[in-house]
Amino acid sequence: MLHLEDPGLDATTARGLRGYQRKVDNAGTYPEQVVAGKRLFGRYNRQTNRVFKVVRKRLADMCAGARRCGYCEDSVGDEVEHIKPKDLYPQQVFVWENYLLACGQCNGGKNNRFSVISRGRLRDVTRRRKAPIRRPRAGAPALINPRDEDPLAFFDLEITETFFFLPRMDLSRIDEQRADYTIDILKLNRDVLLAARHEAYGAYRARLVEYRQRRDDGAAETDLKRLSDAITLSAHPTVWREMQRQSSLVDELRILFSDVPEALSW
Ligand SMILES: [Zn+2]
Repeated sequence: MLHLEDPGLDATTARGLRGYQRKVDNAGTYPEQVVAGKRLFGRYNRQTNRVFKVVRKRLADMCAGARRCGYCEDSVGDEVEHIKPKDLYPQQVFVWENYLLACGQCNGGKNNRFSVISRGRLRDVTRRRKAPIRRPRAGAPALINPRDEDPLAFFDLEITETFFFLPRMDLSRIDEQRADYTIDILKLNRDVLLAARHEAYGAYRARLVEYRQRRDDGAAETDLKRLSDAITLSAHPTVWREMQRQSSLVDELRILFSDVPEALSW
């Protein structure tokens, strides 16, 4: 999970979203806004809708590799995910900054679950089934938001054996809780992801070895560029980022990167 750079929205699409959001905001009381937000999102979030066609395209530009999920980086990101759930935050239903493309498993697992930080503690504000529709307690989101935070400031990815996401050692108590919460709610350490990261590590390393070989054989710049692009456009970019970050700590990486120092900035 990496920070997602905002590619921006054109003025027409941004205006379209604001128009949809105004309909939710003007729907009446908070419970009426929640109902309207869900209904209108279902109506407008379609391939045939001009605004959402662009929104999806711009969100796809934000994804790693071949449109990988913004959370797990493994499966294809094909669902417009509300970072702050629309069930709880109707004022965020049509807000560009609240979107990313996620896979069904991450989106479905997270669903309406959400926690905020209030009085120095994480508080679960998930609305239970059949519970009355009330505003959630105020507070900053506990979930680490890859659109406006750098997840790597909160996590280390263990790349020599387990391929687990772990909270960094130097975090404050509340940031450690946020990191744990994010790992838990998105199931970032599910078995299939551990195996995929392990495989990605091997593939990155093999590509780097191939690059070194081709470069030393005097390959053309365009060929070398193709090889470095193959690395930077792969799934599981966090694995690559961690290989760079931990290049002086892992023996085989220290040797490899000392031969190919240019790869430290790819
Ligand atoms: Zn995912």
